[in-house]
Amino acid sequence: MKLITNINEMRQFSSDAKKAGKSIVFVPTMGCLHEGHASLLKKGRKLGDILVMSIFVNPIQFGPKEDYALYPRDLKKDLALAEVNKVDVVFNPLAEEMYPDNFQAAIEVEKLNNHLCSISRPGHFKGVATVVAKLFNIVKPDIALFGEKDYQQLVIIRRMVRDLNMDVKVIPAPIVREKDGIAMSSRNIRLGIEDRQTALLISKSLKRAKKLFDEKERRSNMLISEVKSILSSDTRLRTEYVQIVDKDSLKDVSLITGSAVLAVAAWVGEVRLIDNIKLYI
Ligand code: AMP
Repeated sequence: MKLITNINEMRQFSSDAKKAGKSIVFVPTMGCLHEGHASLLKKGRKLGDILVMSIFVNPIQFGPKEDYALYPRDLKKDLALAEVNKVDVVFNPLAEEMYPDNFQAAIEVEKLNNHLCSISRPGHFKGVATVVAKLFNIVKPDIALFGEKDYQQLVIIRRMVRDLNMDVKVIPAPIVREKDGIAMSSRNIRLGIEDRQTALLISKSLKRAKKLFDEKERRSNMLISEVKSILSSDTRLRTEYVQIVDKDSLKDVSLITGSAVLAVAAWVGEVRLIDNIKLYI
């Protein structure tokens, strides 16, 4: 396995691989890897010749009051997990090289940016789309994998790729959960034992809504109020949003007649967690 930290070296590696007729599969991450990331790597490994994973905590997707400095980092452990999952190249660039002085360009996917997480995190997806576009230009993947855990991110990246004719196929991967149901997240490390119990309410509430949905409840307000009542049973949890949205437009739906996603964002202490579940007819 190769560790590349320099942008030109990564570009050269990818150009050489392409000239040699190899396909490149790419998994972008912010590191502090867990089984959720590993599932993307395992899926990606089967889809092409060369598997590249980036580890980059992207400063421009964090707001000024957000947890950029506190975001967990563990490169040594990440390299071991990458090795086990047969990654060929780990690309771990420096923020100073990714964002030199006077960096000004940005990519914004406009309407999809008016929903869900964007409300409390203005500028977040502009930062995400911009770094993913940069990484695509550097790594030149044929295929890139994104987890459904970050559902809005997946939809925005797909739209960016479509609208800007980027030559990469975006492949989604399902949410990987802990045994107790909690969605795996690098931020879970920041939860104490009591926090974890509180955080568990999120996946529990989604499961309950899915059960009601499977029993033919189609009214979003009924499903949302059930979720909210479970979440409000613990005052240590602060709900940011509970929404049922169309799977493509991310617009709220009041009656589920097609494919929707129930998405939740909530805070446990200083840790912001997101989760979602598909409500497909
Ligand atoms: P991150 O390092 O949090 O930026 O995540 C990198 C990629 O892994 C993104 O495409 C995420 O959606 C995906 N991912 C993170 N957590 C999970 C999970 N629990 N299940 C599936 N994919 C995940």
